[in-house]
Amino acid sequence: MAMSDLSAVLDGEVLTSGDPGYDEARTVWNAMVDRHPSMVVRCRSVHDVVAAIAAARSDGLEIGVRCGGHSVVGHAVPDRGMMIDLTPMGEVVVDAERRRARVQGGALLGALDLAAQQHGLSCDNVESFEVVTAAGDVLRASERENPDLFWGLRGGGGNFGIVTEFEFRLHPVGTQALVVEHDFTSDHGGSALRAWRELSATAPRAATFTAFVLGGLVTLGYVWVGDPEEGRALLPAFDTIGTPTEKRVTDMSYVELQQRDDTVDGHAFRRYWKGHYFTELPDDLIDAMLEGSAAPGLVPAASLQAYGGAIADVPDDATAFSQRSTAFEFVTAARWTDPAEDTARIAAARAYAATLDAYASGAYVNALNDEGLAGVRRAYPAAKLARLTALKDTYDPDNVFRLNQNIPPSGKD
Ligand SMILES: Cc1cc2nc3c(=O)[nH]c(=O)nc-3n(C[C@H](O)[C@H](O)[C@H](O)COP(=O)(O)OP(=O)(O)OC[C@H]3O[C@@H](n4cnc5c(N)ncnc54)[C@H](O)[C@@H]3O)c2cc1C
Repeated sequence: MAMSDLSAVLDGEVLTSGDPGYDEARTVWNAMVDRHPSMVVRCRSVHDVVAAIAAARSDGLEIGVRCGGHSVVGHAVPDRGMMIDLTPMGEVVVDAERRRARVQGGALLGALDLAAQQHGLSCDNVESFEVVTAAGDVLRASERENPDLFWGLRGGGGNFGIVTEFEFRLHPVGTQALVVEHDFTSDHGGSALRAWRELSATAPRAATFTAFVLGGLVTLGYVWVGDPEEGRALLPAFDTIGTPTEKRVTDMSYVELQQRDDTVDGHAFRRYWKGHYFTELPDDLIDAMLEGSAAPGLVPAASLQAYGGAIADVPDDATAFSQRSTAFEFVTAARWTDPAEDTARIAAARAYAATLDAYASGAYVNALNDEGLAGVRRAYPAAKLARLTALKDTYDPDNVFRLNQNIPPSGKD
């Protein structure tokens, strides 16, 4: 389809190289991603999404779907393909009485937070989706309508279609949050991390335990969502994990907490991530993590975030999202500015993560980088991957939606 024909049927517009807004649309969070779509289709309606998919398929253009552009590997941006840009579809409508939010496919979490405040895994709180499939059908997926697709969309990434609307269940969480951070030197980091691990197993579920390691130095803490006074009640127990060099206890609003990493300068860095899931944190894993962090070279920062709580409440087979028995999610995250350092930085992150491979039970799909099918196999156990592959065969047998952590249709891997 000629570009002018596509433009004529759209509520939105088509941008190509040189148009105002084109460079802005192709720029995403990771500064390493510098690809040039042959066109950006700025969609303003479900009708636009249907028309864009049809045009891309008839012209053989690879599709990338842009919402927030925060995928670390930059899956939103296809080189010489069609970017289906959902950012003009960013409306959030909250029904406070029914505790429901209808969120368009291009909305950022910040827009939802401003309109409401939500809690728990997003995918566990979706009531229904509106989806445009590769064939151009507009479907609803919920427990009652297309339940197989509903299962796959909750954790299966962008493999089955373009979501144009999410209906979320909302939960009361109050307006406040408390962030606790204690810094430890490398001498005391190991013993503190062991004590932090023990406390995390018994702490109230409103506390999400966090750890950050850089150059062997350790910051341990927790994030409390809810009444800050109740969060402070955990401080005496937390003080027993060791003697820090510095303590920070910060009150903030829930919205500020959600936007904490969302700084403008954060968008200027080149990035590489590598993640693991751990079902437990044995002493030798802690030692390996700290030794690797303190090694000379460009070893990046690493973090641990405790799972459990509301994540573990849901049976593992209820959604495509997997490995709910994970105790801690690990991510090592490199960031730098000089392109000449790309190879060395990426190699250092991979090497550090590889020292912990033996302890890993898998990885979170959103923390995967450029691992391809091997990474997808780390994200989903074999039985889930088989079910996801069957869904892919039904909803996207030609693998139109492949610029993602891709689940290939049968026989195409
Ligand atoms: C600083 C930072 C912190 C993060 N923290 C967390 C965290 O705490 N928890 C967590 O789960 N993740 C976290 N992530 C990962 C992030 O949630 C994922 O990378 C997510 O996919 C980003 O969504 P996006 O809309 O920005 O995606 P984009 O980069 O726009 O797109 C990512 C992928 O999703 C597809 N896609 C986008 N929109 C749609 C749609 N409407 N329908 C179908 N497919 C679509 C695209 O094709 C692409 O494959 C974090 C990322 C960053 C940068």
